[in-house]
Amino acid sequence: MSRLSATLSRVKPSPTIAVTTKAQELKAAGRDVIGLGAGEPDFDTPEHIRAAGIRAINEGKTRYTAVDGIAELKLAICAKFKRDNGLDYTPAQVSVASGGKQILYNALMATLNPGDEVVIPAPYWVSYPDMVLLAGGEPVIAPAGIKTGFKLTPEALEAAITPKTRWFIFNSPSNPTGAGYSWDELKGLTDVLMRHPHVWIMTDDMYEHLAYDGFEFCTPAQVEPALYDRTLTCNGVSKAYCMTGWRIGYAAGPQDLIAAMRKIQSQSTSNPCTISQWAAVEALNGPHDFIAANNAVFKRRRDLVVAMLNEIPGIACPTPNGAFYVYPSIAGLIGKTSAGGKVIDNDESFATALLDETGVAVVFGAAFGLSPNFRISYATSDAALKEACTRIQRFCAALR
Ligand code: GLU
Repeated sequence: MSRLSATLSRVKPSPTIAVTTKAQELKAAGRDVIGLGAGEPDFDTPEHIRAAGIRAINEGKTRYTAVDGIAELKLAICAKFKRDNGLDYTPAQVSVASGGKQILYNALMATLNPGDEVVIPAPYWVSYPDMVLLAGGEPVIAPAGIKTGFKLTPEALEAAITPKTRWFIFNSPSNPTGAGYSWDELKGLTDVLMRHPHVWIMTDDMYEHLAYDGFEFCTPAQVEPALYDRTLTCNGVSKAYCMTGWRIGYAAGPQDLIAAMRKIQSQSTSNPCTISQWAAVEALNGPHDFIAANNAVFKRRRDLVVAMLNEIPGIACPTPNGAFYVYPSIAGLIGKTSAGGKVIDNDESFATALLDETGVAVVFGAAFGLSPNFRISYATSDAALKEACTRIQRFCAALR
């Protein structure tokens, strides 16, 4: 293609999608590949939610809807925020889009001017910085390393804020580390934000319900109610309800921001899939007992993966309290050479050699802004995880 926009030259394709696509292609070509790249539950969408989608089709609920969501879904979202987070929102403060990604994208597009800064703790989910760049803003990366459990300290947040800061993006439990902030840890950050009234908070709560070891989820507007008027609380049905492909994300926040996001959606994609919206109504209003059952399985898999990775000299894998990711460090392996002759000089060459030589697909840490690490999504069968970790153990044992 001859000419692309200048904006596009500022961004790269999503590395999580790239790894997932590569693993799928290798599998289709007959290679024995275990994909631990994609961050999505391997469980099917629960039966009652699927039935709601089928009902929507059979009842002819298949036409355009209001651009940012049907009234029934907005009411279900308001009820969810009240029930789970103690937050009061009206339907006019709620936006529904085609996945959490579109919600974040709309909000950034609606609010950023050239030179505006967005503070993003690293490691971060791969798309935050590139979405900021697409919207014409400047990502400001605030380090949150392994020493602080991959959590941003109030000091690091304070140091990243400038007069140009427009947003602070917060994500707990985190993709890619699984780290969840306690109430007190989050209060430390909201105290800083109270001192900077020009900074707005975009909180990505997508992994809210995926919590282990008694971790209690909390969200900024709940911890510091005085931030309510400058917080966009983002969430979605993808992870907890096993509905990644249905593409329903939502957010609640100030009415004028929601209206601005609606304007963008009205000129781009219009309403999210009608059938998915009706399925999401059932997800939010229906029974939730399957979430605890799924979490018991996720926790068992987390423990299996953490234990097997920590048996490897040179790898250190913290035990996270949420999401379905682990983010081990490979600091002890840098400089070695694989059995296939590949020098492991960074986490990208580690991930590439691992895939080429063992068929295990993981996402390298540089994609998330903190190296040398890699991300495993353990939302896959116990047998596949055991086999994958065994292959990683063998691969590392053969390093020289
Ligand atoms: N959130 C998931 C991940 O990080 C899905 C892929 C993506 O959209 O990045 O793997």
